[in-house]
Amino acid sequence: MNPAIEVRHLSYSYPGGRRALDDVTFAVAQGECVGVLGPNGAGKSTLLLHLNGLLPERLPEQPKVWIAGEPLTRDTAERVRQRVGLLFQDPDDQLIAPTVFDDVAFGPRQLGVAEPELERLVQDCLRMVGLEGFERRQPHRLSQGEKRRVCLAGVLACKPAVLVLDEPTGGLDPRGRREFKRLLQTLPGTKLVATHDLELVVDLCSRVLVLDQGRLVREGPTIEVLSDEPFMLEHGLEKPHALLHRHPHG
Ligand code: ADP
Ligand code: MG
Repeated sequence: MNPAIEVRHLSYSYPGGRRALDDVTFAVAQGECVGVLGPNGAGKSTLLLHLNGLLPERLPEQPKVWIAGEPLTRDTAERVRQRVGLLFQDPDDQLIAPTVFDDVAFGPRQLGVAEPELERLVQDCLRMVGLEGFERRQPHRLSQGEKRRVCLAGVLACKPAVLVLDEPTGGLDPRGRREFKRLLQTLPGTKLVATHDLELVVDLCSRVLVLDQGRLVREGPTIEVLSDEPFMLEHGLEKPHALLHRHPHG
């Protein structure tokens, strides 16, 4: 079976900026949940934006990214992009419509889903993220956690094969983090999760990738990497003392 995500020798510099990704190569198996760790500025968001072709500005002729075996190129971008559901780091960058209903309906509408199926789909997705009855609410008036859930509902409404989540618990309080973690645990399928939330990583991800200054400096089983205190400190990460004594994925 093809990996759900494959990235080979991916490098990228922002226009006029320094190198944000430097020869990154990895694969994520179908159904696997993998964490992406690294200090601020390591290139996590930049990497995630490459997985559905939002970067680079102009897709290369030679692919660097494959989704379920299909290369991401100029010709395939539209189709491949539909299969990768990306939850942005900042929900305000993702929310676009004046009501929650229209926001969640935006993606499927683009894909040609019409009433009455659309209504049912939006309701189902809102129920999945615990926001039943929020259809008429205004997204910009919601709490940070609720905004994230609306964005996730909008991503799920497009029925992606792969979920790519950029700091999904960032800016949430401890209860919000735990609730969002539980929600993510209920979602089946392949996930790639960039995060500083080591509790989320321990409970959700069997494997981690560590980026530092655009380079993939390590990949391995979550507990093995997180237990390596000198390594974690060297790359600006913390060792999650208490977490490692709990049962993983519980
Ligand atoms: P992370 O998500 O790990 O914090 P980013 O991918 O956001 O890291 O950033 C990687 C590097 O690229 C950083 O040096 C950052 O300053 C730079 N960068 C990020 N976004 C832009 C941008 N839009 N324009 C120029 N440089 C950027
Ligand atoms: Mg980021």
